[in-house]
Amino acid sequence: MSLNPKRTVAELKELRELTGDENGAQRLAWTDVWQKARKWFATKLVGLPIEHHYDAAGNNWVALRGASEKTLLIGGHLDSVPNGGWLDGSLNVLAGLEVLRRFAAEFKGRPPVTIRLVDWADEEGARFGRSLLGSSAFAGTHSIAADRVRTDKDGITMEDALRRCGVHMDHFQEAEKERANAAAYIELHIEQGPVLEKLGLPLGVVLGTKGVERHAITFYGQEAHSGATPMKQRKDALAAAAKLALEIRNIAGKHSDAVCTMGSLKTFPGIVTAVVGRCEATLDQRDLDAKVLAQMYREAQEASKRFAAEESCTVEWSRIWSIEPIPFHSHLVELCGQAVREISGNSHRLPSGPLHDAAEVSRAGIPTVMMFVQSLRGISHNKIEDTREEHLEMSVAALDKLATKTVDWILKAN
Ligand SMILES: [Zn+2]
Repeated sequence: MSLNPKRTVAELKELRELTGDENGAQRLAWTDVWQKARKWFATKLVGLPIEHHYDAAGNNWVALRGASEKTLLIGGHLDSVPNGGWLDGSLNVLAGLEVLRRFAAEFKGRPPVTIRLVDWADEEGARFGRSLLGSSAFAGTHSIAADRVRTDKDGITMEDALRRCGVHMDHFQEAEKERANAAAYIELHIEQGPVLEKLGLPLGVVLGTKGVERHAITFYGQEAHSGATPMKQRKDALAAAAKLALEIRNIAGKHSDAVCTMGSLKTFPGIVTAVVGRCEATLDQRDLDAKVLAQMYREAQEASKRFAAEESCTVEWSRIWSIEPIPFHSHLVELCGQAVREISGNSHRLPSGPLHDAAEVSRAGIPTVMMFVQSLRGISHNKIEDTREEHLEMSVAALDKLATKTVDWILKAN
């Protein structure tokens, strides 16, 4: 039996049929539909010479034991956002399954190294606002104390929702055991952005995940009557924020892959007859280079102070969240480039703006790389998320090649 990428596409459609509705994929983590997806996935394992278990954080592991205990990990996530797309996360898992089948067949159930496929629990964080939950437990970077009391929109705590699925947060750290013998981690994912489509390329090599600086910025001015206050005597907090909203485009524009987004802006009192006395904004800045990220953060702070002064306002910053850039393993990036070139004739390299489970695995010190396949219109987390079937098939073939190259590298390196 050789690799059959068409089967991956057929299985993706089967999963879409089973766990989606007219609004898109509904595999929200820790819900019945998500568990249904996992049970369906288990039926695909029947007859394979594998071991299957769930770890202490709810990650779903399939192991094909090899001659060596050294292990190649292949990962993805079956969970989706509500009204999500059919490919985000599940392509990775089902392409990984196809690669595992190929290894099982070619080596009669015993490849040269052990190969383990993981379906991470709750990558999306869509229900409790905590992304990469299962992979962070694996990596030992989880934050149980803060996470267990998180609630969903119905007031159910994360701890209760997980317990319902047989996961006890007190035992989370036992998931770290799964790191034993891990020699490399590879992950295929849809790009979720428009870069590869614009370049006319089916596949890309991911250099790493961008670091993120995420801040709340509040400008303070003076609420005042919109009719009685002359233009020159206003302390207009919105004017200062508006200047910053335009300036972040210049700040990001100096660097080729950097992005800055002011995604939320609230004005107070927020009525038509008052000058804005307080304006609350958020800023999200990302780049793969820590120095660039630090520079953009500094420049945005300086600009905010300048604009506040120009508008006779003051400004305060508070960090919401941040993560450092996570560059992937240079040799695996090289191997991924070879695999992508062999399948598509090109090997464009690009950073990932979104975070992925691969970032957590890399933080745990395991050599890691990701591969992207083109997303049509660059849209994801939406029912219209799509990728050409021929590109999906190419991505399965490229992942398979990357897996073979990585296995060879593991054997040589150890
Ligand atoms: Zn994903």
